[in-house]
This record gives sequence, C-alpha cells and structure tokens, in this order.
Amino acid sequence: MIYEPEAETRPREQLRALQLDRLQSLIEYVKTRVPLYRDRLANVDPADIASLDDLRRLPFTRKDDLRDTYPFGMFAVPREEVVRIHASSGTTGKLTAVGYTAADIDLFARVNARSLAMAGGERGMTLHNAYGYGLFTGGLGLHYGGERMGMAVVPVSGGLTERQLMLITDFRPDVIACTPSYALTLAQAFRERDVAPEKISLRYAVLGAEPWTEAMRREIDAGLGVRSTNIFGLSEVIGPGVSCECVEERAGAHVNEDNFLPEIVDPNTGEPLSEGEEGVLVFTTLTKEALPLIRYWTGDITSLRSDPCACGRTLARMDRIKGRADDMLIIRGVNVYPTQVEAALLQLPELTPNYRIVISRSGTLDEADVEVEVSEEFLGDEELRARAEARLRESIGCSIGVRLSARGSVPRSEGGKLQRVLDRREL
Ligand code: AMP
Ligand code: ZN
Repeated sequence: MIYEPEAETRPREQLRALQLDRLQSLIEYVKTRVPLYRDRLANVDPADIASLDDLRRLPFTRKDDLRDTYPFGMFAVPREEVVRIHASSGTTGKLTAVGYTAADIDLFARVNARSLAMAGGERGMTLHNAYGYGLFTGGLGLHYGGERMGMAVVPVSGGLTERQLMLITDFRPDVIACTPSYALTLAQAFRERDVAPEKISLRYAVLGAEPWTEAMRREIDAGLGVRSTNIFGLSEVIGPGVSCECVEERAGAHVNEDNFLPEIVDPNTGEPLSEGEEGVLVFTTLTKEALPLIRYWTGDITSLRSDPCACGRTLARMDRIKGRADDMLIIRGVNVYPTQVEAALLQLPELTPNYRIVISRSGTLDEADVEVEVSEEFLGDEELRARAEARLRESIGCSIGVRLSARGSVPRSEGGKLQRVLDRREL
C-alpha cells in the first residue's frame, strides 16, 4: 500500500520541478530568518538557482553549526511557534537540539506513515513500538506515524525485554519498530524460551537508527518470522522517516524526496558524485519550518539510485549506510567499517551476530580484534577461529584477530543504538 500515492509516484521530472520550486522558496526563507544563513548566503539570490545542479554553489551546513548556535540559534521561527524539541546526543560532544512547528510535526507523522506503509504496515494493524521514547526521535516519530496511518500503537519504548516478550505474546502485534540489534535481542530471547518464529504474531519489522547488514537481516527475519525493512533518518533532518525500504524489493530505502533533497558528495572534496557512486549523504530540507537546513552534511556513507521500483514509487533509493565517516576504523592503513566486519563474519554459520570490535594499539600500530559469540560446542575451536580470520582477511584486506567467546559475553542491545566498537587505545 502507498500512503500518499500522488507524492510517492510522481514522474521524476515533475518531482524535480517541485524540488526546484521549493528550494528557491527555501533560500528566501532561511535568508530572512536564520542569521547564519543570512551571512553565508549573502551573495546568493533565489533566482541564481536555476536548476537543481546549482545546489552545488551553496555551502554545506555541518553539525558544528548547530553546536555553535546551541541550543536554538538556527531555529527559523519564534519560540512560540515551536511545539516540540528533540535532541540528539551523537557519539561525541555536546547535544544538538532540533525543533518542530505544528506543520513540522504533521510532516514528521506523514513521512513515518509513508514509511510504515512501505514496510508492509496497514490501517488496522497493531504496531509494537520498541524504539526509545524521549529526546531520541525514534519513539515519537514512529508513534505518530502509526497513529496517522490508523494503526493501534503500543508505546512500549526500549528495554525490559521480558515485558516486551509478554506484550508481543499477549497483544499479537503485526508490526514491530526498533533497532536491528534490539530485534536480534528479542529474537534470541524468544528462542531461549522455546517460542518458534511461526508462533510469533509479528509479520513486519521496521528497523533502523544504526547500521546493519543483509546477513543480520536474514538472522532477524528467521528469528522473528518477519519481513524486515530498513528505515533511516536523523534528528537534524526530522528523525526517522527520511527514507525507508519498500517490502516489495527491499533494495534501498525510498527517500521522501519531495521534502528531503538528497545528494551524494565526495567525502574529501565535497564535489557532487553521480548515481551509484558511494560518498557522504547530504540533505536539504525542502519543507521544514522550524529548522530548515541547506546541504546538511550527515557524515553517513551511501549511494543513491533512481531506477524504477516494483512498488511503483518513483522516489530515489539510498543504499544501506555503510557507516559514518567518523566510525571508519583505520587498521594498519586499511579503511574498515564495522558493517564490513559483520558481513564477513556472518558468512560463517557457526558464528552468531553477537560481536564487538576491540581496537587497541601495539607500539604505533592500531590493532583490531573481534570478539564473537559461538555456542558451547565451538568454544576453543582453533580451526573455526582460523577460518574466521581468513575470511576477514579476504574480504577486508587486513588482519583482524578473532576471539570466540561464550554466549552472553558480548554486550546486547537494550533497545538503544548498540555500540559495536570498544576503543581501548585511550585506556
Ligand atoms: P540520531 O539523529 O541521533 O537519531 O542519529 C542519526 C544517525 O543514526 C544517522 O546519521 C545515521 O548515522 C544513523 N542511522 C539512522 N538510521 C540508520 C539506518 N537505517 N542505517 C544506518 N544508520 C542509521
Ligand atoms: Zn519500492
């Protein structure tokens, strides 16, 4: 089902015309309302932007701009018009505050309703929402989206796994929303209690907020008996609902491009890259009122494609996020993203998706080990360990040591974003 068919299936030329129109109004809007943009765009006239290609003439906005003007310096409306404030902690540094007008909240609900529909959700279904409620945008984002769609939303929030299992068993939801790592925690908890996947009522899972792989998807789908899709978003742009995969193809997340204009740029030079090329994802918000952003540098690495999709949507698709530019590890000179380690490990069926990467330093070289849980029969299995190391070496191109550890030894997701990397270099 398509939630907003007209907006989601527009011919691409019409979409581009709409985007250009909205972009020109946006420039006028931010120049008159946001001091930072008044200064930075002093020499830019909306009329100078004659096509979407002219976007490249505009400067990037970065997380530091939000930090420097913390908390509300980039808001484009008076405080009385702000009806909600969320914040993102990020992995380092200060909070970033984001604001919404009533119209922004309406947009937030609609793009999440669209996403739930992309993921297989329908009016009348029950949504078990195990995303954290609070300053994090995930919980309330999916909550409003579910209600807007006409679903019965169970606002469980993250954590208290035992209670989650009980609610899923008793309320028999059709759809679950949470982080992929927490979906795995739930799947494992069901298995430990001998509940077979066919006995779990869930049919669809809308998972995001952290990077994950196809191998992880297979584990979750089998463990919960669902078809899971990848939802993406970030607080600065709106929260979840920036993009979501359709359940038909599950091959890239459809970006709600009528509201969030995506670009892929070279991480080093900032130059725009072509379709299919991998680089940093950048967004311009076309319709937001409280916190409009021009060319916001997400730091996330992915690529875009706009070929037709079986679901009928014309919205371009973004590939899975490989990682954030700042999560990239450099091990003996080789660039490594945690998702590459995950994909390589899960090629071996003896290994579980419970792993963590430990970075340490010997002399001046950074070293990485991965600690991965196995069932008891494989503990101390030297042949398996060597095979896992060889697999990592082949697919990543550098040596990463493998340690096989007992079930339960690696930290599990408690509902929030899971930290997969333990950095011991500072200790
Ligand atoms: P926050 O604003 O705190 O919710 O964090 C947003 C960030 O979470 C994004 O910039 C991504 O790095 C990450 N993220 C969100 N959704 C996904 C996803 N589906 N896959 C990979 N990373 C994601
Ligand atoms: Zn599709």
